[in-house]
Amino acid sequence: MSGTFLGMPAFPEAARAAVRDATLRANLRHATHTIRDKRARAVAELDDWAELREAGKRIKDHTLRHLDHYLLRLEEAVTAAGGTVHWAADADEANRVVTRLVQETGEREVVKVKSMATQEIGLNEALEAAGIRAYETDLAELIVQLGRDRPSHILVPAIHRNRGEIRDVFRTEMGRWGRPAPDGLTDSPAELAEAARLHLREKFLRAKVGISGANFMVAETGTLVVVESEGNGRMCLTLPETLISVVGIEKVVPTWRDLEVFLQTLPRSATAERMNPYTSMWTGTSGGPRGEGDGPRAFHLVLLDNGRTDTLADDVGRQVLRCIRCSACLNVCPVYERAGGHAYGSVYPGPIGAVLGPQLRGTQSALDASLPYASSLCGACYDVCPVAIDIPEVLVHLRERVVEGGEVTRRGVRVRLRPARGHAAERAAMRAARWVFGRPGALRAGQRLASRTRGVHPRALPGPGRAWSASRDLPEVPAEPFRDWWRRTRTEAARTGTAPTEAGKAVRGE
Ligand code: SF4
Repeated sequence: MSGTFLGMPAFPEAARAAVRDATLRANLRHATHTIRDKRARAVAELDDWAELREAGKRIKDHTLRHLDHYLLRLEEAVTAAGGTVHWAADADEANRVVTRLVQETGEREVVKVKSMATQEIGLNEALEAAGIRAYETDLAELIVQLGRDRPSHILVPAIHRNRGEIRDVFRTEMGRWGRPAPDGLTDSPAELAEAARLHLREKFLRAKVGISGANFMVAETGTLVVVESEGNGRMCLTLPETLISVVGIEKVVPTWRDLEVFLQTLPRSATAERMNPYTSMWTGTSGGPRGEGDGPRAFHLVLLDNGRTDTLADDVGRQVLRCIRCSACLNVCPVYERAGGHAYGSVYPGPIGAVLGPQLRGTQSALDASLPYASSLCGACYDVCPVAIDIPEVLVHLRERVVEGGEVTRRGVRVRLRPARGHAAERAAMRAARWVFGRPGALRAGQRLASRTRGVHPRALPGPGRAWSASRDLPEVPAEPFRDWWRRTRTEAARTGTAPTEAGKAVRGE
């Protein structure tokens, strides 16, 4: 399997194999149901959950409305604390900046904290092309990296793997990347964790450069925050001499007081914990501008746009920038549970991936045009979202964009989108329906014809509609069209002196 999502097919095609894989479905079902049940219990402990959710939504909306102001404030505070801020308009620019910063240290390897932003831009591949090896240190990311796999969940990237598969990956691959797995390694969780710990420790102790993302950035002090469960993040944030953080611009919050809300909602929504085991915060370099004390001597913050300001320009779609990547929406989604994360073709799977990817990248590719349809619109994602993103609303909005085309902003320029070619048949059907519904005579004639020929109607749709109708019963055409029935029963009622409603009841056998 390729380690990147480049060239992924549209969602239905990619999901086809996944839904037939019984092991994958069992792994996903077990994992998502366990996390979702625990989350529900953790959330129920808080009487003010609804107020926290509303507060999180308002803080994010306020920050996004004044994003320019808070980003400049953040830059000022980071610089005052001895850090350097870099602005990256897109993935290529961010990769170039990070590669140059690593090259300037003279190092050929880096340790990484789990980071969605660096996966989004394909940083590991860019570093590899420059001869720099990036080591993932989060356990699940390590499993994905060793197995040359792709992440399939925001929080648990190896959710599609069971213990036996992980043991096999460790046994065969760990030695190629450093310290091999211990002899006789079994699939016991304690043994697997110990093998990973030993493998990673030598990398932590050797690393001179660490790369991270951040869950939040506090504008008033220039502080970055990483919440995690394993402690690997803290090792990467404190041991190396140079720390480079790549963070999406939407991760800024104005004050520490605002942070308080998210430090309650994120752990409960993500891992069903009251508090994260590790919450690391850092402001500039160690010892401030003079670089004294423990921790990194050099700190670089790469602020990543990569489609975010374009998303901000969309009245309906901008709400996805509130996302705090808790992954609660993935764990309740019936489509994700069956299709798995790889089918979404990006590092952002599940409901949030279905609305975020097509906005960051546009809806022009077959994959991105298919993602807004990767949902049953059941609304479970909206119910659990701790920042109240109305994902179904955005999905419908994006479907409209796919079908109708329309205008979007791309790097500050208004761009006219072509309607997706893949939905030509649907558009033709809708045009035909509009023509018929606009002509009562034609509609009546069509209904009568359909009733008279009902005995020879096919049981399934032909062509592309065959798959759709294979698992559904087509509605039966009645022997008499409703309009004819209405006219006949009313005439009969008038003739017999029965009120029309009574005639209706008689026909229904009441
Ligand atoms: S959309 Fe909401 S539920 Fe889904 S990952 Fe983002 S914050 Fe969590």
